[in-house]
Amino acid sequence: MASQLGNLFILAAPSGAGKSSLIKALLEKHEDAADFPMEVSVSHTTRKPRPGEEDGVHYHFVSREQFEKLIEQGVFFEWAEVFDNYYGTSRVTIEQTLHRGIDVFLDIDWQGARQVKKLLPDACGVFILPPSTQVLKERLNRRGQDSDDVIASRMREAVSEMSHYDEFDYVLVNDDFSVALSDLEAVVRAQRQRTAKQQMRHLDLIKDLLGDQNADR
Ligand code: GDP
Ligand code: ADP
Ligand code: 5GP
Repeated sequence: MASQLGNLFILAAPSGAGKSSLIKALLEKHEDAADFPMEVSVSHTTRKPRPGEEDGVHYHFVSREQFEKLIEQGVFFEWAEVFDNYYGTSRVTIEQTLHRGIDVFLDIDWQGARQVKKLLPDACGVFILPPSTQVLKERLNRRGQDSDDVIASRMREAVSEMSHYDEFDYVLVNDDFSVALSDLEAVVRAQRQRTAKQQMRHLDLIKDLLGDQNADR
């Protein structure tokens, strides 16, 4: 993918650690910040919708057959099988969004994160840890959207997901939500000030300050 003005953030965590809540809170808090627009990528999945989940908003819900056809058509930037369902990120949507200078947040598992990092090494990986195993279990139960079997299987998968934490650029512990949110904001702010991005964003300023020749050096 050619260099893009927008930043790509990958958030991963064991189910229930709070990545969806953190992304949602971050976007709501900054929805009026016209200078730094951000969006969450809406994945395709073969999982059944939870109560309250809307097609096209939380996920694009598709059948296994439809998903396999989309894989063949090369629609996905990355895809993976998680908890016996397929999940995938559409290529066109994220490329077009980043190209428009909008930061994109991916809420994906470690397998997808690995694929994205390979394709786009500039992407910023953030891993969210829960403060304890007990708290993770309580959050999954309290969310009240999954059956006991599903919660038990997600708890079994949690250790395997968490074992990949060190493949990410940043690790946040989501204990106090407001602290975790401000830590995530700090990561996002730092990523935006990286030199390569600032060179694109402030090309005119740099030309002005340094003179045309130096700016293009
Ligand atoms: P949650 O863990 O409670 O948010 O449950 P979800 O059902 O929303 O997500 C299940 C798993 O699929 C998580 O590990 C997600 O990170 C992962 N996932 C969601 N969307 C994608 C995607 O587009 N690509 C990949 N590779 N994984 C995804
Ligand atoms: P994920 O997207 O990682 O599966 P969610 O964002 O759905 O996790 O969070 C799981 C549950 O835990 C939700 O009910 C959410 O409201 C709650 N939660 C998230 N972060 C915190 C926190 N810091 N303190 C208490 N509850 C939290
Ligand atoms: P849930 O079924 O609870 O919505 O999601 C379960 C897991 O799937 C979460 O860890 C979530 O991050 C991951 N996930 C959701 N969408 C995608 C996706 O498009 N790609 C990948 N790789 N994982 C995803």
